[in-house]
Amino acid sequence: MSHPLPTPAAPAHDLMLAVSEIYPHIPAIIQNDLLRYVIGASAVFLIINTWLSRRLLSRKIRSISPGWNQMRREIITSLRTVLIFAANGVMVGIGYSMGWLRAYADPAEFGWLYFAASIVGIVFLHDAWFYWTHRLIHRPELFRRLHRLHHKSFNPTPWTSYAFNTGEAALNAVFLPLVLLVLPISFLGIFVFTTHMMLRNAIGHCGYEVFPATSDGKPLFSWLTSVTHHDLHHAQAGYNYGLYFTWWDRWMKTENPRYLAEFKRVSIRQEHPEPVCS
Ligand SMILES: [Zn+2]
Ligand SMILES: [Zn+2]
Repeated sequence: MSHPLPTPAAPAHDLMLAVSEIYPHIPAIIQNDLLRYVIGASAVFLIINTWLSRRLLSRKIRSISPGWNQMRREIITSLRTVLIFAANGVMVGIGYSMGWLRAYADPAEFGWLYFAASIVGIVFLHDAWFYWTHRLIHRPELFRRLHRLHHKSFNPTPWTSYAFNTGEAALNAVFLPLVLLVLPISFLGIFVFTTHMMLRNAIGHCGYEVFPATSDGKPLFSWLTSVTHHDLHHAQAGYNYGLYFTWWDRWMKTENPRYLAEFKRVSIRQEHPEPVCS
């Protein structure tokens, strides 16, 4: 998506001028999206799936770990997603220069309270966008073309987080310019939002339940989607469409009925892990 630096020029309202302004920044935009995926997924993989893997063994959701072939496929397809997100960032830059989008360069322009509130707001909006578009692409007539690739990772890894069909990547990307048509968000705020999105996505696919539990095995933050929540979606599609929060699944009665039992199983057990789906 978009890059907070260099600071864009003021809106130009001229298409050719807007394109010529964004053109020199295209390599930086691609690099930014590439680094977000590579650093985000690598950090989660190295910290959770490697460094802490022994300590987190009792919280491993499945007994089997995905192989390198799966991870290689995920990384290769994710590079295409990086290019689609970068193309979207270029569109956002042009839209900004044309004065169509309400992105702004100085994060303090509307005050720091608005800066923080705009990030919270876009996360809430993105959660709703993701839930409903996710349900849409699970429709049988769309699933094969738009979402099948992501579900090829039956047992996901942090690298699954960008493993999308082209159409799914575009559907995810277009959210940002649509929001910027109505909601002013600074370029730094966009950077924080996209980085949070990437990290939550990578953690949600890591295969270890890292979210805290109460002493009786319930999610401490029941309104947040845990790793088990999204892992169950990969194990048994048709439930758990949410991205950051559980409320849409609860309101629409699409939360997996086994979710709380699965969360309890992985969060308080001491014995060796069992597969999530048998
Ligand atoms: Zn899905
Ligand atoms: Zn997923």
